[in-house]
Amino acid sequence: MIDLKKLIRPNILELEQYSSARDEFSGKDGVFLDANENPFGQLNRYPDPYQVNLKEKIENLKGIKSANIFIGNGSDEVIDLAFRIFCNPGKDKALNFIPTYGMYTVSAAINQVELLQVPLNNDFQIDLKKVEPLLKDENLKLIFICSPNNPTGNIINKNDIISILKKFKGIVIIDEAYIDFSENESLISLLKDYPNLIISQTFSKAWGLAAARVGVAYSSETITSLFNKVKPPYNVSLLNQLSAIEAIENEIDFKQNVKIILKEKERLKNELIQLAFIKKVYPSDTNFLLIEVNDAELLYNQLIKQKIIIRNRNKQVKNTVRITIGSTEENNRLINALKNIK
Ligand code: PMP
Repeated sequence: MIDLKKLIRPNILELEQYSSARDEFSGKDGVFLDANENPFGQLNRYPDPYQVNLKEKIENLKGIKSANIFIGNGSDEVIDLAFRIFCNPGKDKALNFIPTYGMYTVSAAINQVELLQVPLNNDFQIDLKKVEPLLKDENLKLIFICSPNNPTGNIINKNDIISILKKFKGIVIIDEAYIDFSENESLISLLKDYPNLIISQTFSKAWGLAAARVGVAYSSETITSLFNKVKPPYNVSLLNQLSAIEAIENEIDFKQNVKIILKEKERLKNELIQLAFIKKVYPSDTNFLLIEVNDAELLYNQLIKQKIIIRNRNKQVKNTVRITIGSTEENNRLINALKNIK
């Protein structure tokens, strides 16, 4: 049995949650003179701190109860809050598998938490032999598993994740920012078996709302209430909430756009493999391609000159660049620019 209470920082466990004006009275009718708001304007009132309407939509979409849903200001907020809830600065540790998304490192450093960097194997999968000896460390509180992984683009084997969940007594966060582009299912169904599991997703990628900043974490009720306790009271603006609601109401557009992006990904991949300086296009469960080239730095600079911006990932995976799938027009510009490179 996992004792979640033992995993929480003592100051967070004892924390008395800030009680906002909207916590104390949440009715819709009345004369609101409780929150020092301005009576004039369109956006003059504080938004719903618990995003009830948005959560109802997500509940219907995913079949997960509101009590198990936390909404963050992007999923980057979920990552930061997880460090703040579970890791005592200067004492506790977290772990991730590299190469992966860079914010785990930055958030760990901000929160003064040592981050163990365990390399993925040559197939960018978890090497259980490398991670298992580390799981017994009492100070290891958080494990991040990014699946599909950024920048490598692949799904992490479900069995390896389950193997870690079975052995590890701390918190496991599966970052599924790109899951909507994958044919593989989300691991949300594991939540019922593992009270120490957090699954984060986002409206920034397949839902097309990167500017709105809406991230979601699914977890046990205990963990969800901890997120709510620690978050700033009004962390998700009314505009964020409304844009996510609107996106869910237009789910058809979401599905259509994902389909187009996936088709474009195939087209782009077929064009790229024909180019002499491209050595390998990695398989991708995401909306980007990791590509091995002769000289990543050179290619990056050559494309910049043509006002096409890609990501040089040479430091993470030798001589690779990461290219996001754009619109048909944008991809055509990329293909033409690449063909012009001598
Ligand atoms: N996780 C991964 C793997 C990402 O690549 C990103 C953004 N690039 C995020 C989380 C953060 O997304 P957001 O804060 O926009 O939800």
